[in-house]
Amino acid sequence: MSEQLWRKNLINITPYVAGEQPKSDKIIKLNANENAYPPSPRVREILEGYRCEDMRRYPSADAGPLREALAKRAGLSIDNVFVSNGSDDVLATAFRAFFNSDKPIVYPDITYSFYPVWCDLLKIPGRTVPVGEDFHIDAQSLYGEGNGGVVFANPNAPTSLAENREFVRNVLEHNRDCIVIVDQTYVDFADKGIDCLDLIKEYDNLVVTHTFSKSRSMAGMRLGVAYASSELIGYMMAVKDSYNSYPVNRLSIETGVASVQDEEYFQSTLKKIISTREKVSGQLRELGFEVLDSQTNFLFVTHPKYSAKDIFEYLRDNGIYIRYFNKPRIDDRLRITIGTDDEMAQMISQIKAFMGK
Ligand SMILES: *Cc1c(COP(=O)(O)O)cnc(C)c1O
Repeated sequence: MSEQLWRKNLINITPYVAGEQPKSDKIIKLNANENAYPPSPRVREILEGYRCEDMRRYPSADAGPLREALAKRAGLSIDNVFVSNGSDDVLATAFRAFFNSDKPIVYPDITYSFYPVWCDLLKIPGRTVPVGEDFHIDAQSLYGEGNGGVVFANPNAPTSLAENREFVRNVLEHNRDCIVIVDQTYVDFADKGIDCLDLIKEYDNLVVTHTFSKSRSMAGMRLGVAYASSELIGYMMAVKDSYNSYPVNRLSIETGVASVQDEEYFQSTLKKIISTREKVSGQLRELGFEVLDSQTNFLFVTHPKYSAKDIFEYLRDNGIYIRYFNKPRIDDRLRITIGTDDEMAQMISQIKAFMGK
C-alpha cells in the first residue's frame, strides 16, 4: 500500500534553538543576550499613550519613518536601509535575495547557529571554516572564488571577539563576485574601530545587519535592520513584498523611531553595560576563569578546573540562567550575558558557592 507517501515530501529541518525563557520572574536571566535595562523612556511614552483605534489601519508598507530615522543617524539615504521582524528575518531575507548560486555560502564553524539553519531551510549549500585556537576568525579562510556568499558575525557570537575593519576590508577585497553579509548585532558594545557601516559606500556587495534586540533593549518588538547599496536593498524589499508586505507593525515603527532619536539614553545604557562587563571579566579572571576579551554584552568563559556543564547546572538550580552549548570545540565554555551590577554580583556569589569559596 502506498500509505502516507506524502511523508517523504514533508520538510526535514533542524530548527535553531533559542535560550530558555523561564516562566518565573525570580530567575536571573543571563542566557539570551537581552539588555539588562529598559528601552528609552520615549518608547514607554509611546506605549502608554497609544491610541488603540490606530490599530485598525495597516502600518506603513515600507516602514518609511523608521528607515528615515535610521538613515539619518547613519548619514545614509533611506534607500540604503531595510527593516524587518528582528535581524533573524532580515538575515533570512538576505539569504533568499542574495544566495541563489550552486556555490557554497561560507561561514565560521563557531558563530551564530542560525546561519546553517537558513542554508538548510532554503536548500543552499553551506561550508564552515574553522576559527583559530584563539577563537579569532582567519580572514583568509573566507577568501575564495568558489564562494557563493559569505556571512559572519562581527563581533562574533558566542565568542564575544571582534575583528577590525581591515579584516572586513580584506574579506571584501577577496570576495568581489559574491555578497558578503556582516552581522553587526553587537557592534554598539564594541570599540569604535569595529563598525564597518561606512564600507557600504565603497563596496556594493556588502550588507551590514543590526538589531534593536540587544543594544536597544527591544527584543520583544522584533526589529532588525540591513544597510547596503540601494540596489541590494531593492532586492531585499522585493523578496519581502513577495511573501509579507507589512512585516513591521505600527508599534514597532513608532517605538523604533523613538529609540533611534534618543541617542543620549542609548549611549548611557551602553556605557553601563560595558563598565559592568569589564568589572565582571576581572572578577571571573580572579576566580581562575579564562575570559575572552569581550566586545559584546556577554562573556565567553572557561575554567581549567571545573566543568562548564556542572557550573551551568548549579547556577540553573539556583535560579540563574546562563548558556551552555553542548557542541564540539565549545562544550567546555559558558556564555554569560551582562546583566545589572546587582544580577552579576549574585551570579559571582553563586559561582563562588559552587567552588566552595
Ligand atoms: C541575537 C542575534 C541575532 C538576532 O537578533 P534578532 O534581531 O532578535 O532576531 C542575530 N545575530 C546574532 C549574532 C545574534 O546574537
